[in-house]
Amino acid sequence: MEPGSKANAVRDLKERFTRGFTLIELLVVIAIIAVLAALLLPALSRAKARAQSIKCVSQLKQMGLATEMYASDNNERLPGDQHNLPSWLSSLAAYNGTAIYKCPTEKTRIYTYAVNDLLTPRPAGAPTLNFSKRNSVPSHSETMWMSELVEEIIGQDHFHFADYRNSPEPSNPAGAYSPKGFIGQVDATRHHLSANYLYLDGHVSTLKWAHVPPLLTNSGSRFIMPVGHP
Ligand SMILES: [Zn+2]
Ligand SMILES: [Zn+2]
Repeated sequence: MEPGSKANAVRDLKERFTRGFTLIELLVVIAIIAVLAALLLPALSRAKARAQSIKCVSQLKQMGLATEMYASDNNERLPGDQHNLPSWLSSLAAYNGTAIYKCPTEKTRIYTYAVNDLLTPRPAGAPTLNFSKRNSVPSHSETMWMSELVEEIIGQDHFHFADYRNSPEPSNPAGAYSPKGFIGQVDATRHHLSANYLYLDGHVSTLKWAHVPPLLTNSGSRFIMPVGHP
């Protein structure tokens, strides 16, 4: 090594740092940051969506607990809806407040959850059916009690599944909860092609929409109809 070359190298480096970056170097750094941000942002938004769905599940679990307490306090009667007052909107408020009545992803509506009208007395379109007492429902772990309304439905606290005249299909006498009737009311793809469903036993399932139609159309399925789909 030539004497003094080390000192020169140190001087070069010092100069380099004191004069700062060239424009090109700065642009390269900015471009690298932009690429990293573009790679990271979708992952961050996916993580946020997952967190929101988990929060939605925990809210529905609380709704399940409140329903259980209400039924215990009211001689097995399940909370009502807008056709069978008092609605769960008011009767469950005493147990868990109204702040958890809407999905964490919701921006405008006050509540997004709604109940399966087949578990209310005299459901619209099928006034002779009555599974409004908890002990009249044969399998609590199979029947859905609550889920989320599609964006277009505002100010409704229940689904219309009992009304067989609603969108009937010859192949499916239970028209209102045929896959077409169901997805017209239930926001079945709200959480990344899935939705959260609270069952009457209090458990919550996150189901991809692709897995739901058999639950609606299979003979004997109790997902919507407590005594089994015809
Ligand atoms: Zn939700
Ligand atoms: Zn109604």
